[in-house]
Amino acid sequence: MILLLAIFLASPLHALDRNADLRRETLAHLKALIALDTSNPPGNELIAARYIENELKKDGIDSELYTSTGSRTSLVARLKGDGSKRPLLLMCHTDVVPADPAGWQTPPFTPTEKDGYIIGRGAADVKSMCAAQMAILAYLKRTATPLARDVIFFAEADEESGASVRHIDSFLRDKGALVDAEFGINEGGNSVWKDGKILEVRVQAAEKEYMDFTLTARGKPGHSSVPTEDNAIARLAAAVDRLARHRFPVALNPVSQSFLQAQIRTAEPVIASAIEAVLAAPEGADRDAAGTALALVAPEIGAMLRDTVTPTILKAGYKSNVIPGDAVATFNSRLLPGRKAADMMADIRAIAADPKLEFAFEPPTRAPVEAMPMNTELFRAAVTVRPRVRVIPYMAAWTTDSQDLRGRGVIMYGIDPPMTHDDLKRVHGNDERLPLKALDWYADYLKDIVLKTAGK
Ligand SMILES: [Zn+2]
Repeated sequence: MILLLAIFLASPLHALDRNADLRRETLAHLKALIALDTSNPPGNELIAARYIENELKKDGIDSELYTSTGSRTSLVARLKGDGSKRPLLLMCHTDVVPADPAGWQTPPFTPTEKDGYIIGRGAADVKSMCAAQMAILAYLKRTATPLARDVIFFAEADEESGASVRHIDSFLRDKGALVDAEFGINEGGNSVWKDGKILEVRVQAAEKEYMDFTLTARGKPGHSSVPTEDNAIARLAAAVDRLARHRFPVALNPVSQSFLQAQIRTAEPVIASAIEAVLAAPEGADRDAAGTALALVAPEIGAMLRDTVTPTILKAGYKSNVIPGDAVATFNSRLLPGRKAADMMADIRAIAADPKLEFAFEPPTRAPVEAMPMNTELFRAAVTVRPRVRVIPYMAAWTTDSQDLRGRGVIMYGIDPPMTHDDLKRVHGNDERLPLKALDWYADYLKDIVLKTAGK
């Protein structure tokens, strides 16, 4: 009997069942999580944390919940390894951006399967990832997979806030030791799904940092029938123009360089040759000009090459015949990996070139981090578990909370569920969705990476 059981457990058929369970449970968890409205604000991630806690408990996995304020709750669970290697962190966030049902074809918090898609807020960003990670934890537990590393699951609250007071800051201050790891996997990659199959896995290994600032011009107010030399609107507009037209130097890191090299083989010819021009040009004015040309044909790639400053809000005046006393412009700036905020602020002041302007910066609360190394066990696993798939390093022009973990020494990568170009455009928008087959593919892929990295 025991022999028969052993044969059954070892049989490929049994492994197939386990994989089918993994995929089925990933979808079931995703649906359950979509139905829990964790729109941020207010977030209310406690309801997602409770769901995850209960589901993991069914497999005997304990969770620790951490609440910063009210119902802003993160969850951490851990499967123990033998301690011979440092932990692997699986991270996702349980909150979503708000959804206005008026713009949706199906109710955003009712998970809907249609035409090969799962539709609902969080399907792509990023409850699908939480769902797969939960199912992988259960898989590891049920198969009693021997682990060299602890596998830590961190379902984070309040990623989408954009506020200056962040849950992650208090979490890491109070409970940071719970998520100490050698490597981690989080959102932030940009893998491509096309014609029902994986086209390219983009492992995010670097990202830009976020910084807002405002610029205020003050002038002499008065009646517009008597123009003044010191008009706040005119002064501000000139500075906005100088900043918006400025191009910072092109600066590549090993990750962006590798990504560009990989794109030469696959991008449209016009983009491929623009990339080649950037890589061939010597650092300095030539490379900067080549970067500007590349940004014209591929803005998303262009944004990876340099620091950027973009005006986003302009406020001035209240009546057509009154000269206002002040005018305010808000900018969003994105800094290259490792760039120091203080240096960037000094550059911005110099480019604005008007000592009468008042600046108010909101520098990042976290220290700058460089691009991640690519010669790691985790990165190699992401490549080797799918030898026939193109897996390349990627740098994001946006930011994620991986940066906070990177700042603490965890080597973080973004490996997300793959999606089509059309799916990508719906992230944070209406009718957010993920191809069902892509979700299946992702759960298997992530599981294989975890087995390869953390298994014995
Ligand atoms: Zn996200």
